[in-house]
Amino acid sequence: MIPSIPVPWQAKAWQTELSRAITDVEDLANILGLSLDDMDWDPNPTFPMRVPMPYVSRMRCGDRSDPLLRQVLPELAEKNSPLGFESDPLQETSATLFPGLVQKYRGRVLIIAAENCAVNCRYCFRRNFPYAYHRHDSTFPMLEHIRDDPSIHEVILSGGDPLIMPDARLNNLVESIEQIPHVKRLRIHTRLPVVIPQRISEPLIEMLVNTRLRTLIVAHFNHANEIDDHVAVAFTVLRQAGIPLLNQSVLLAGVNDNVESLCSLSEALFEVGILPYYLHLPDRVTGTSHFHVDIDTALRLHGSIQGKLPGYLVPKLVQEVPGRPAKELIASASLPPTSPRINARG
Ligand SMILES: *Cc1c(COP(=O)(O)O)cnc(C)c1O
Ligand code: SF4
Repeated sequence: MIPSIPVPWQAKAWQTELSRAITDVEDLANILGLSLDDMDWDPNPTFPMRVPMPYVSRMRCGDRSDPLLRQVLPELAEKNSPLGFESDPLQETSATLFPGLVQKYRGRVLIIAAENCAVNCRYCFRRNFPYAYHRHDSTFPMLEHIRDDPSIHEVILSGGDPLIMPDARLNNLVESIEQIPHVKRLRIHTRLPVVIPQRISEPLIEMLVNTRLRTLIVAHFNHANEIDDHVAVAFTVLRQAGIPLLNQSVLLAGVNDNVESLCSLSEALFEVGILPYYLHLPDRVTGTSHFHVDIDTALRLHGSIQGKLPGYLVPKLVQEVPGRPAKELIASASLPPTSPRINARG
């Protein structure tokens, strides 16, 4: 099945965007018409800045508090290290079977398929990730492990960002996975097409459609402003190719921690064929405390969006607690009272 609308860009356009990503705060400030003096930025961040132009082009010029800018700008606040923030709060190190393979939940394994991302998100829970440890010259041991465990039905490609791999490498990996008979599904967790929609090229779609595996994509959008016309084309093409599309977001102070942003995001996602899946409470990772939203605020916001959106546009509010068999659902025990006007008959 070949998608009915062709993408309006060249197959390798995304690699050009990747190579000219902005890594200098001064360049970014110039593009956005901001003065460096107005920005509480860190000239020497331990986690460097990196942001591709197609993403920058969706930021509002002259707006120091733009929700997209906040996600990529290294701020001095990253140097704060309040009690309770750690480098590996999810204890992924202990869930690592061997380099590159993480299994926490039954039936699913996660492959750290790439070490890099197209964008460095300041709130990233893997910002301190020991990629050097996970570096693998060969996927052979991982694949052997999956082959030896018939309970594994789904392989999740994560990272880093798996779509940073060139198509040929990705293809090889997918071909090896599809040869394992008990694996039914291939899930790709990615933010790449969010920041560079040109990544959704025809060769990629062909690969996703032609594999024996059922493929699904879990994208990572946090704000409705992240969806522009190119993003809409990319995801519409994926949807027309029959690939289920889900989204996971992180609840981030100063980015989307209000009812209006969360509702607009869900609505905008649906417009381009994506269903909200998870809304993650931010993990307590060193360097990210300025994004933190406490659990009571999260519950209140989640309760409010439940009162405004159809159920299928309400993401599950979750947090990751090490040692649990699944991500932990944070249930809203008490929804806000229904307004009498909606309750009244007639
Ligand atoms: C989040 C996660 C998954 C996927 O969990 P789902 O609830 O199926 O989306 C799988 N493995 C690891 C290690 C994870 O962190
Ligand atoms: S794309 Fe994902 S893994 Fe990469 S920096 Fe952003 S949040 Fe982290």
